[in-house]
Amino acid sequence: MFGKVKGNRSGNQQSISKKNKKELKAQRKWEQDEERIKGSKFRLLNEYMYTVNSEEAQKHFKKNPEEFKIYHTGYAQQIEKWPESPVGNIIKLLTESEQFSNKKLVVCDLGCGQGEIQEHFQNDKRLSKLITVKSFDLVAIKPYIIETDISNLPLDDCSCDVAIFSLSLMGINYLDYLGEAFRVLKKNGHLIIAEVKSRMNTIDNFVNLVTGMGMKILKRDEHNSHFVLFVFEKVMDVCQFNGPLNQKRVYQILGQKDPNLKDWQSLGQQILQPCVYKKR
Ligand code: SAH
Repeated sequence: MFGKVKGNRSGNQQSISKKNKKELKAQRKWEQDEERIKGSKFRLLNEYMYTVNSEEAQKHFKKNPEEFKIYHTGYAQQIEKWPESPVGNIIKLLTESEQFSNKKLVVCDLGCGQGEIQEHFQNDKRLSKLITVKSFDLVAIKPYIIETDISNLPLDDCSCDVAIFSLSLMGINYLDYLGEAFRVLKKNGHLIIAEVKSRMNTIDNFVNLVTGMGMKILKRDEHNSHFVLFVFEKVMDVCQFNGPLNQKRVYQILGQKDPNLKDWQSLGQQILQPCVYKKR
């Protein structure tokens, strides 16, 4: 009897575990499909942000804030696969480099995403007394993030020591973002940019563009496989950026004449291409 019951139990157990296995398999497949859909959505949103004007992107995310979260989950997963993170490199630069260390600084993180730079310095007992970070993005994921389009910053002229663009020169009007950073930086203030390598036809053109505004290049770190890290210093009082775009200017920036380039926006697109994914 005992044996019989035992036999029955193991039969039940077998069928239960078979059922469990089936359910587990189905569950796993569901989760994998869900991940794939989220990954596709991230790529779609990423491409969208690189191919529209920031005003349009802002309107879109205001209406669909949950998509901004999907974007940032996908973004974080992607950066995790990189050997180093741009934000990690920038924090290191601000902490260890002679230009910045032991100085009182107002730092503006333009297109801050999850606001990791502010979080880092706020939580550091010693450095929080020196470094004040203000974080800006289209959507405020954290309460301390200021929700704004960085092509039009709510900051006074010459009010920041350091401005940062970490992979955030996204909109087709990204030249306006650069113009705003120039405006809010103090004379001799620093502009730190991390930009995806594959967006740049030549790194020189990008450097010429920024130095052509009235900046000096101090650092160009290409050691990372995915991004380049730049440090510029504002050396002019007035931005030379929005001057007429004549062939001489195009030549200065691109090192060659391009009769098709008649406006700043198309020059911008020529220098930093949108980050688009290969279709799978
Ligand atoms: N700097 C962060 C996030 C990079 S993702 C990091 O390195 O981890 C790029 C971010 O730039 C996104 O959060 C996007 O919303 C922001 N961004 C792009 N254009 C913007 C604009 N016009 N105004 C505000 N934020 C912008």
